[in-house]
Amino acid sequence: MFREETVTKTLEALCKKVRSYDPQADIALLRRAFAFANEAHAGQKRATGEPYITHPLNTAITLADMLLPLPIIVAGLLHDVPEDTSRTLEEIKAEFGEDVASMVAGITKLSKIKYRGMERYIENLLKMFLAMAADVRVVFIKFADRLHNLRTLEAIPPKKQYRIALETLEIYAPIANRLGMGEMKGLLEDAAFKYVYPKEFAWISELAQSTRKGKEEYVANVIEKTKELLIENHVEFLDVHGRAKHLYSLYRKLLRHERNIARIYDIMALRVITNDITECYAALGIIHSRWAPLKGRIKDYIAQPKPNGYRSIHTTVFCEDGEIVEFQIRTRAMHLENEYGIAAHWAYDQQAKAHPHAAKNEPLPPWVQELTRLQTDLADKQKALTSLEEVKIDVFRNHIFVFTPKGDVIDLPEDSTCVDYAYAIHTDIGNTCVGAKVNDEPAQLSRVLKNCDMVEIMTDKSRKSPNPDWLDFVKTRHAKTKIRQMSRSKISSWIKGILPTKGKNKK
Ligand code: MN
Repeated sequence: MFREETVTKTLEALCKKVRSYDPQADIALLRRAFAFANEAHAGQKRATGEPYITHPLNTAITLADMLLPLPIIVAGLLHDVPEDTSRTLEEIKAEFGEDVASMVAGITKLSKIKYRGMERYIENLLKMFLAMAADVRVVFIKFADRLHNLRTLEAIPPKKQYRIALETLEIYAPIANRLGMGEMKGLLEDAAFKYVYPKEFAWISELAQSTRKGKEEYVANVIEKTKELLIENHVEFLDVHGRAKHLYSLYRKLLRHERNIARIYDIMALRVITNDITECYAALGIIHSRWAPLKGRIKDYIAQPKPNGYRSIHTTVFCEDGEIVEFQIRTRAMHLENEYGIAAHWAYDQQAKAHPHAAKNEPLPPWVQELTRLQTDLADKQKALTSLEEVKIDVFRNHIFVFTPKGDVIDLPEDSTCVDYAYAIHTDIGNTCVGAKVNDEPAQLSRVLKNCDMVEIMTDKSRKSPNPDWLDFVKTRHAKTKIRQMSRSKISSWIKGILPTKGKNKK
């Protein structure tokens, strides 16, 4: 039976967590957002039988685990309110301001995307995420939302479980990876794994458990030895800790190595976290002087980062008692970025209390540079933490993505109008369009569309041809061509109409 105290406890844990990385955070605001959501969802239950509020609350906890700023956590608490309760987006706006409301609106729109065949769906969702990345904070909330849904998947029918888990592996996790969010990718994959590949999941969990069994003491010992070694040699470091490989990632790796666990050297890895890059290389040297490295197993992802921006030095050594151990050496800034990716740029770093790169003056990975180029004032650290809405992913610059009423995504050039949209859907719809609705409001056909608008076109089948005046405002070449074609054939048939039926005008 579910107990009310659990909710209270979770809320207190959330407040404590936020205060731990942002002592100045407005906790009263956080409590207000909770109270608002709690009241709005009152009486609603999750499929698990728990009160609905446990879902937004756990979503908010995941966001706080990523050390994200308060407005994102507030939006996380409110993310299902407009969709699932009688409280509206306007009320959220009045109560919590424009910024929070715009994030909640983004999430609400994302939830409208429908499943319609895997191929089309992937294409749609991928585009959608990129469009949504106009405010990447919405994507963070979506990940946190999805993670909790996966963790409570037990309660829903198997067919739906499979679909949600598969989407996670095929879409959400790769996007998390693209955004450099290694930890989120791992969490999503591990939560989805058992629903998509139940047998393999059982096999891997068993394998991982038996391989790790009895290793804890060994690892603790090597951690101590490493710390001593670094201290003796005057190499400064912030932390040495062990990390267990995520299960799904272990599974993928086993598939690449003939399912032979003996060939996987990083089931358990040790991480050395330093202040700066020089210390990384110093630590590498010291570790190699004590334990011989395996040939061909040194990877310098600091000098050559992975395409998603991952940076670290990896080396595999013959460690104590001849056991094979992988070390991963990186600075604290790199570590935060490897774990939280793009989110790390807004995470409160207790030591640097700012953007890790701004603090360290290290070069940004290219994809982050691309993003931050659009951020107005990165130098102003306080502002960088709050003015997130200006950040855009540039991959699809000059493109916008708009929804059909059924949740499909249409990709158009910037400044496209309702008529461009109509022609993008189908030539007949373009030719016969007479009116439009944008986000449920009536709109002129010449209306310039914005990212994530939901557009509906009214047609009149009796309309014979498009209006040539549309040529003044349409943006796409496709629409222009079609309008000209139709206008020409209209004119020629009109000419034919007024000409005598026989003769004279033969060409
Ligand atoms: Mn939700």
